[in-house]
Formats: sequence, structure tokens, C-alpha cells
Amino acid sequence: TSATTLPWLLLDTDDTHTHTEAHDAGDVSDSERHTPMHPEHPAYVIYTSGSTGTPKGVVVSHANVVDLVAWARDDLGADRLAHVRATTSFTFDVSVFELLVPLTLGGTVELVPDLLSAAADPGLLGAGGLLSAVPSVLESLLSAHHRAEVSSLDTIVLAGEALSPQLLATAQSRFPEARIANAYGPTEATVYATVWHSDGAAPTAVPIGSPVPNSRVFVLDAGLGLVPVGVVGELYVAGCGVARGYWARPGLTGERFVACPYGAGGGERMYRTGDLVRWTAEGQLEFCGRADEQVKVHGFRIEPGEIQTALTAHPGIGQAVVTVREDRPGDRRLVAYLTPARAGAEPPPAAEIRTQLADRLPHYMIPSHYVPLERLPLTANGKLNHAALPIPTSESTSGRAPADGHERTLCELFADILGLPQTGPEDGFFALGGDSILSIQLVSRARQEGLLLTPRQVFQHQTPAALATTATIIPTAVPARHETGTGTLPATPIMRELFEQGGTFTTYHQSVLLT
Ligand code: AMP
Repeated sequence: TSATTLPWLLLDTDDTHTHTEAHDAGDVSDSERHTPMHPEHPAYVIYTSGSTGTPKGVVVSHANVVDLVAWARDDLGADRLAHVRATTSFTFDVSVFELLVPLTLGGTVELVPDLLSAAADPGLLGAGGLLSAVPSVLESLLSAHHRAEVSSLDTIVLAGEALSPQLLATAQSRFPEARIANAYGPTEATVYATVWHSDGAAPTAVPIGSPVPNSRVFVLDAGLGLVPVGVVGELYVAGCGVARGYWARPGLTGERFVACPYGAGGGERMYRTGDLVRWTAEGQLEFCGRADEQVKVHGFRIEPGEIQTALTAHPGIGQAVVTVREDRPGDRRLVAYLTPARAGAEPPPAAEIRTQLADRLPHYMIPSHYVPLERLPLTANGKLNHAALPIPTSESTSGRAPADGHERTLCELFADILGLPQTGPEDGFFALGGDSILSIQLVSRARQEGLLLTPRQVFQHQTPAALATTATIIPTAVPARHETGTGTLPATPIMRELFEQGGTFTTYHQSVLLT
């Protein structure tokens, strides 16, 4: 949602201090609270997309979070958590792992402000430490940068969406020293419910592993019966990570947080994840997709129904179907199919729909493509025929040929990255289906062509013509003169200091890398 439409919440006004008004703004102990704090009290509420059009808030307790911290301390160890690079948005519960876990264990957190700046400036990734990221973020970082540019890492925790064997292999070869984990979990089970650690081998499918301590998982059929090893069933999670439920949605809470028939008695609950999984013979869980419509795009959890509801709120739109397409491998995009409100009319133009959606939905839920249809394709028994939804085509709208030089280079890059036959100088990157991840590729490819752009500039200027005038030109390198590098040189400050301290040495190296 754009910042201007959000109400402001001032944390230090009298209103928000009513609970602590008798005290300094400093520490408030339990005895000073109106009611004492219990482990079962909510620690936070994180909203996730809801299928009926309204996001749902997951209420997570302090006990739930403490359990996560205990797992991380025992499994990863405080050393690996001493320096964590956090790349995930606050709206996503992976950020709870990235922020609260290291801070609770006395570690430090380095905020990599956003994925876009990290991709544009890999120096932000420093050396060593633990990198936590969703796989598509790591993938875009690695594809945008050469080996030498992204430095070493001790630990990589990937989570939030399926990890492909290809990305695992790339990460293993780029970071041979790193311990790599694939962690799985819905917000409703407090960040991570299962985890798998790579042993360096190359699996054909990357498992999501086995339950973290204090969690129990069940792979069940429709009658809540246990399915045998190798058979796909729905994953249910029980144990200390199971959240309290959805904020002010008792019906929905009752549907998803159900009584556990395999508990020790005493009303244990389990969360129905909607994820399809199977046990392998080795006792590992393999992720096999979703039992419902929920999708993940770049790690963001999306219910297409919520976008459809936002679309049909437009008076010019009759019916809307939103789906994820991957017409080019690795390039997952949200596509909206629309019918007009009145037969024979045209649905509203894409730019207008985009603007309306931007008031109601976060950026990652705004489809890249809008395909007008006279009517939705149906199967013989009247259901939506997903297979018959056409591949979206984006067409260049600008008739002018690009000017030679940077404008032409950028037009070619746009077409290549967006998978189009050609693009014109006045075409907008996002109007043609670009998104934040693709914009990273644009920035890094432009850099290889000698044009320095920032992701922010791509968002601001959008067309090849405008970007060509904004980009900074990287001066063509002057070939270095090759001479033998031997001779007498004055001592450097460090050498002088070492001499002054009475040190003796025969060899001393100091290196600097110039680009
Ligand atoms: P969220 O509540 O945003 O954390 O999303 C939870 C959903 O993301 C799960 O129900 C899965 O569908 C998916 N997910 C999370 N981690 C993984 C993983 N390691 N592999 C495959 N899917 C995952």
C-alpha cells in the first residue's frame, strides 16, 4: 500500500501510552503492567493473504517465538547466529527468525535494506556470517553477480518457497564452505516447522527435512488417517510452534487449527497447512505443492482470490481469474484474466487497473499482465478451464525506432529480459510485465554494457528512452600498462608502524584491488 494512503500511528503519543502512563518510558516490569505478561500472550500478529479478499492476521505467542529461538540456538548454534544478514521484509515471518533470533542470543543483525540494493551493490553482503533469504532472492543475487563479487558465507538458511536442486547445486559450488539449510514452515506454525541440512550431495529433489524439536508433523489423508511412506498427503503440524489462531476470525481458526487425533489427549491442536508432502524412505519430507489455490511468487504468499476480489471491485470488470504462469523456466508471474462488466464492452485499460489495485494490495500482489477475454474458458462440466487460459502477450506500444547508442542497448535488454521479440524506447518496463526481480537483472545486465543504473531509477523512469538519459556511463577502461613491478618503494604506514614496534620481517604483502 502506498505510504500516503496509510494512517499514521505515532508510538509515543499519550494514547498509546495509556497502559504505562504512570511510569517512565524506560523499562516496564511485569508488576507494573495492568495485567502480567504470560507466555501465551500474543507476541505479534502477521497478516497473510486471504482467499475471500480480506487478509488474515496470525496471532503468535511469546511461547511460540521462544520455541523458535531454542531450536535455532540448538540446531545452528550461537556462533552461526552471531552475525545474521537479514534480507526479508517485515511483513513476512522469516524476518522473525532473522531479527529476533540473533538478537535474543546476543548476536548482531545486519539489515540488507532490500533485495534490490543488495543485488545492485553486492558489497552490502560483506563476508562470513549467516545469510537468510528466500530462494528466488538468492537466485537473483547469484545470477546478477560473478563469483568474485559475492563474498563467502558460513551459513545459508533458505526458506519460504520450494528450493530447486539446481539452485542448491549453484549455492553449494559458490559457497563450498557454507552449511546450507532448507527450512519450511507456515506463519501459523511460527516460522519453521521442519528443516533439512545439506550434506554436500546433490539430491534430485530437495527435501524440507524433518520436524524441528517440540514440533510434530503428520501426513494425512482426507479422513485424517496417516498415509504410508511415499504416498502424498496433506501436512499437519502440531507442537509448541502452533500459533494461537487468526485474529478475530474464530470460524477460520476452527477450520485450520483442528483437534489432533494423535495427541496425548488434553485437547492438543494441529494446524492444517494445505501443503502436499510425502515421507521418503529416509524419513525426510518432500514438498509436492499445494492442496488449494495458494501460490508463492518470489517467496510471497498469495491467495489469488484476494486479488480477484480486488479486481472485480472495479465497475468495468465482470469476472476475474488470477493465476501464476511460468512460461519461461524460473520466471513466475501473476497474470490476471478479465471479462468486461457488460458484454461487448472493453475491460478497463491495464494502467487504470494497476493504479486501483495499488491502493488495496501490496506491490507483490499486483499482476504483471492483464488479459482481456470475452468470457472465461470453461470445461464441459462448467468449471474454469485453466489449461485454456491463453499465454499473455505483451506488445510494444511505441512506434519510434530506438536511437543508436544507449537507448538501443536498453531496448534490446528490455526485450531479452522480458522475453519479447522487441521493445520500443517509450515502453514501460513494468507495463510490459517486468517486476522487482526482473529489474535486478536489468540493472546488472546494463552494468555489463557500461550503463550504471540503480533499481530505484528503473522504478522512477521505466522506459528505455528515459533510462538512457538518466544512466551514468561507466568510462571505458584504459588498458593498463604492463611493467615489471619491482623496485624500491617507500615503506607504507603499516610497515613503518611495525618497524617502530621493533618488528622484523622479510616479506610483507599488502594488496588492493582496482576496478
Ligand atoms: P508463509 O506463511 O508466508 O511462511 O508461507 C508458508 C508457505 O510457504 C507454506 O505453507 C509452503 O506452501 C511454502 N513454503 C515455506 N517454506 C517452504 C519450503 N522450504 N519449501 C517449499 N515450500 C515452502
